[in-house]
Amino acid sequence: MIRLFVSDVHLDASAPDATEQFLAFLRNYAGDAEALYILGDLFEVWVGDDDPSEEKARIVSALREMTARGVACFIVHGNRDFLLGREFCDRSGCRLLQDPVIAELDGERVLVTHGDALCTDDHAYQELRSSVRTAEWQRRFLALPFEVRDRFANKARAGSKAHTERTPPKIQDVNPAAVEAAFRTARVHRMIHGHTHRPGIHDTVVDGEPAQRIVLGAWYEEGSYLVYENHRYDLRTLPRG
Ligand code: MN
Repeated sequence: MIRLFVSDVHLDASAPDATEQFLAFLRNYAGDAEALYILGDLFEVWVGDDDPSEEKARIVSALREMTARGVACFIVHGNRDFLLGREFCDRSGCRLLQDPVIAELDGERVLVTHGDALCTDDHAYQELRSSVRTAEWQRRFLALPFEVRDRFANKARAGSKAHTERTPPKIQDVNPAAVEAAFRTARVHRMIHGHTHRPGIHDTVVDGEPAQRIVLGAWYEEGSYLVYENHRYDLRTLPRG
């Protein structure tokens, strides 16, 4: 059976072509799969399950259609949509998994994660991450009116863009020691993640044993997805337009 993985789709009303492409992907590709894993940042911004936008509702109902047809959909939080909550899951039929999580693929344990926690060289980001991921911060934030949260997110995005522009690319990539530690702690030989927007398959050696890190691409310019079937992994792109 086929399992599909995507990450960093960054769905946003300002990029309708990407939305159409993702909806077509759900219809044309995911329909034949046993499961779809969404490894974070499905949405460019998600400040609460009470978001009234029509565009988001369309995506949620497309996910619902897919899960209702029997395709399991697992999702982990990204740094943009870490507030996806229970209501989103109830409406879409997606199952939220804790990040990182171990997926069992035909007997092989595979570490699945968004990937931002591996970017330990970016100290400013990690500091922000640890404060907004506390239950207390989230409880207080979600208590604010939707419009206030939305404005806050737009400001945060501008700040994040400026940070990305002035931070050297190497700092924004995964830290090799953090990757090794993740392999070791989870006792796996394969991991799949996104976040860095640097799609690729990296073969490495951990404690004398071969290990593989598969990185999914972002959907800004084209689609990117990973197909797993019968112990084989195939990273593919979907041209747009
Ligand atoms: Mn990300």
